[in-house]
Amino acid sequence: MVRTQRIMGNKEPVLNFTVLTLFPELVTAFFEHGMIHRGIERNLVSGECVNIRDFSCDRHKTVDDKPYGGGSGMVMKPEPLEAAISSVKKRNPRAKVILMTPQGERFDQKKACDFAVGQEDLIFICGRYEGIDERVYTQFVDEEISIGDYVMTGGELAAMAIIDSVSRMIPGVLGSDASSQSDSFIDDRLEYAQYTRPEVFNDVKVPGVLLSGNHEKIRQWRKTSSLQRTFIKRPDLFETKDPTAEEKIILRQWCRELETLVNP
Ligand code: SAM
Repeated sequence: MVRTQRIMGNKEPVLNFTVLTLFPELVTAFFEHGMIHRGIERNLVSGECVNIRDFSCDRHKTVDDKPYGGGSGMVMKPEPLEAAISSVKKRNPRAKVILMTPQGERFDQKKACDFAVGQEDLIFICGRYEGIDERVYTQFVDEEISIGDYVMTGGELAAMAIIDSVSRMIPGVLGSDASSQSDSFIDDRLEYAQYTRPEVFNDVKVPGVLLSGNHEKIRQWRKTSSLQRTFIKRPDLFETKDPTAEEKIILRQWCRELETLVNP
């Protein structure tokens, strides 16, 4: 008996996420909470977990075997994965199959935007053990994605990280769409410093301009904060996108202030 669970509202959503995994409980819990859950309730996204083990045909429900050529660990067998992918593709043959692997293209904000605007159906294959049989990759996978140069035990956390960041790009999923537009990496800059109540915390005051109600001054302060943080923490982002005319003026002004500090 094959068990799949598609969590969705009562209309066809904008984007369907399907996760092929040996640990569906991990991912189902993720679909049932927080921002992604709100997106599902609003019919903007759907989440489905498919248990790869349900597609194993032998009586022990085997999904892995020893690697040809010897060596340690186990490799995920191709047949259950092929059957699991086919079952999802029946709904939409054009669904994109994404393999979670540390060997893939590094995931970033640009990729999140591409997935959010360009797709209706994303299928994530979560590997375990030493990974999956190479023939699954060569025959069924459209893209290989990594979330960074480190190796985890399974692809579920990677798939959830991607689904989370793609979902917040879909209009209506977040409480306010403006929040994702000022996020770090949109426009190749880090987000400005944020403050909330109380006005004074451990003797440190919130910058006065943020209490002024002057929208233009607040915008300029945030732009400066965003540029300073990008310059200090991620100067490489200036290589991806040159400073605009306004940014150059702000950076020059900041240089002058630093110069005065060093040579009063
Ligand atoms: N032996 C594989 C290698 O060296 O390339 C690593 C296998 S890893 C222990 C098991 C599974 O975790 C992978 O098949 C993949 O699905 C997932 N995984 C591990 N690290 C990942 C990463 N950085 N990004 C995406 N998926 C990852």
